[in-house]
Amino acid sequence: MNYDTVIGLEVHVELSTKTKIFCGCTTEFGGQPNTHVCPVCMGLPGALPTLNKRVVEYGIKSGLALGCSINKVCRMDRKNYFYPDAPRNYQITQDEFPICRDGYIDIEFEDGTKKRIGIERIHMEDDAGKLLHTKAGSLIDFNRAGVPLLEIVSRPDMSSAEEAILYLEKLKGILTCIGVSDCKMEQGSLRCDLNVSVKPAGSEKLGVRSEIKNLNSFKSLEKAIEYEVKRQIEAIENGEKLFVETRRWDEENLRTLSMRSKEAANDYRYFPEGDLVTLNISDEWIEEIRKTIPELPHEKYVRFIKQYNLPKYDANIITSSYDVADFFEETVDICSDSKAVANWIMGDISAFMNEKNIGINDTKITPQHLGNLIKLINDGKISNAIGKKVLSEMLENGKMPETIVEEKGLIQNSDESAILDMVKNVLESNPDNVAEYKNGRTNLFGWFVGQVMKMSKGKANPKIVSKLMKEEIEKM
Ligand SMILES: [Zn+2]
Repeated sequence: MNYDTVIGLEVHVELSTKTKIFCGCTTEFGGQPNTHVCPVCMGLPGALPTLNKRVVEYGIKSGLALGCSINKVCRMDRKNYFYPDAPRNYQITQDEFPICRDGYIDIEFEDGTKKRIGIERIHMEDDAGKLLHTKAGSLIDFNRAGVPLLEIVSRPDMSSAEEAILYLEKLKGILTCIGVSDCKMEQGSLRCDLNVSVKPAGSEKLGVRSEIKNLNSFKSLEKAIEYEVKRQIEAIENGEKLFVETRRWDEENLRTLSMRSKEAANDYRYFPEGDLVTLNISDEWIEEIRKTIPELPHEKYVRFIKQYNLPKYDANIITSSYDVADFFEETVDICSDSKAVANWIMGDISAFMNEKNIGINDTKITPQHLGNLIKLINDGKISNAIGKKVLSEMLENGKMPETIVEEKGLIQNSDESAILDMVKNVLESNPDNVAEYKNGRTNLFGWFVGQVMKMSKGKANPKIVSKLMKEEIEKM
C-alpha cells in the first residue's frame, strides 16, 4: 500500500532581548551556573513577574512578518507541571489567547513550484533551566530559566522531510532578518519538535501521530522524519497498534525512542496567570512595529532577480543570508558588475567561509576590497587568474588589492611595444616552428602565445599578445 506522510512542526526560538521575560536578569548565553538569576526567575515564593515589553514587540513583529493576525487582547496562562528544571512548578505561557494566529510561509521547490504552509499560532513563554547530569549527581543551572521564547506552531501541512526543511530554513531566515532571534541551533536558540503520522494515500482520516522532541539540527530533523515514517509504516503493515506518544531522537543510533504515551501524559490544568494583567494592544503600536520590519528574504530574492538581473539560483544563495546580501549590494555599488560579484561570492569567498566556518563579516575583506578587485580585472590591469591569487591573499591579510598587486608586481602588461619585442623574440628564436606553422600546422599558434606569456611571467595581456602575434606571423 502507498502512504501519505503528514508533518507539523513546533519551533521554539529564544528571543534576543537583553533581559529575561519576567525580570531584569541578563539573557546572555553561558556564564557561570546560577549567576544570571534573581528571586523571580528562580521562582521563589512571593516573587512577582513583570512582562518585558520587548518580548511582546518581538512577538508582534514575528507575527506580522509571518502573515499572522495579531490578537489585540491576549493574556498569559499557567501551565502546571512538576519538573526540577521549572522552579515555579508551572510555566508561564499562552493557551487560549496567543499573541498571533493564522499565518503562513510559502516554500519554493527547486523546480520553481510553490506550496503554502500554514502557521496556526505563535505564543510567548519562558524557557526552563538546564539539568546537567554528572558523576556527582544531577545539577541544575537556572541561567536559562526565564529567557523569552516564541513557540511557532505550524499546521500539519508538510508531507516530506524536504518540505519540513524548506519551511524551517525559511522561518529561520525571516526571524534572523527581522532581528528577533539569532536562531543558532547549535546554542539551542532554535529548537524544533516534530509531529509526524502516516495514512493510506488519499485517505482523509489522519493517522496516529508521534511527537519527537528537541531536534537540534536540520540533519537530525531530516533523519528523524525518515526513520519515524518507516517505523510507523512497518508497524501498520505488521498489524501492530500505534498510539499517540512522545518520542526522543537518539542521535548516536539514528532512531527514535519512546519517552511516554499520551495516556500517561500530564493534565496541565491551564488557568490565567493572575500575577500579570491582560494585554490590550493598540493599532498604533502594531503599525509602529510594522514600520520596523525590513525587506524580508523572499522579497529581497524577487528584487535581486529584477534589479541585478541575477539567475534564480544565484539570487537564492546570495539572499539566504542577510549579511551576504548586504555585502553583495555594497560591492555592486562600487564596481557595477553584479554577475561578477555574485560569482566571486559564490565561488572562492564561499569556499573560504565554509572551510573556516565563518560568516562573510568575519572575513578580513570588505565590499571595498572585492569591488576594487573586480575593477582591476575589468579595467584589464590584472587577469582573472591573477585575481584569484590576489583574493586569497586579501582573505589572509586584509590588504587592499591595489597594494598586493603593486607589492608583488602583478600588474598586467598592456604596453604594446614591450609585448611586440617579446613576440618578435619568440618568433626569431624558433625558426623551425615558424616554418612548420607556415606549412599548415596552425595549431602551433597557441604554443607561440604561450611562450610569450611564459616570458612575461603571466603578466602580459593575453589579448594583446594574440593580436600582435597574429600580425607578426602573417608578415613572415
Ligand atoms: Zn531573574
